[in-house]
Amino acid sequence: KLPVVAVVGRPNVGKSTLVNRIIGRREAVVEDVPGVTRDRVSYIASWNGRNFTVVDTGGWLPDSRGLAAAIAEQAQLAVELADVVLFVVDATVGITDVDEAVVEILRRAKKPVVLAANKVDDQKAELEAAALWGLGIGEPMPVSALHGRTSGDLLDRILEAM
Ligand code: GDP
Ligand code: MG
Repeated sequence: KLPVVAVVGRPNVGKSTLVNRIIGRREAVVEDVPGVTRDRVSYIASWNGRNFTVVDTGGWLPDSRGLAAAIAEQAQLAVELADVVLFVVDATVGITDVDEAVVEILRRAKKPVVLAANKVDDQKAELEAAALWGLGIGEPMPVSALHGRTSGDLLDRILEAM
């Protein structure tokens, strides 16, 4: 079984864009992973000669319980199936209550977490990424899923965490 990297975070932070960046669209192979339902899509990815599964957890919609409850459930499921959690935060928005709630779940799970500070499209935005130290779960890795900026450094970090 390949190591599983589960991607969690609020809607619109760029999870799916980052997953596409990690897998490279053309090589995307969908894989069956136990616990992955139809709204969580998993792909085989590889970096530096190592293969792993990456799970995009983003397909759900907030239901009657509201956004925070839906995110909490998503994060809980993700940590259960993951070997490494890739927690994506929008650095241009900064820390939100929902992000704080996800952090609580990740802390309890005691799985390795890589914190991606996404939408850091240029060097100037790296200051915004640094503000995510405030989540208290380690170094924010600045990345631009859209442009690929520093995505190699993020992938190196993910491999180190496996
Ligand atoms: P998800 O809901 O977390 O899966 O987010 P999506 O991947 O669907 O992205 C939400 C929006 O953010 C889309 O319009 C993306 O093009 C945009 N986006 C994603 N990554 C980046 C990024 O690195 N920089 C910028 N500027 N926009 C991004
Ligand atoms: Mg998505």
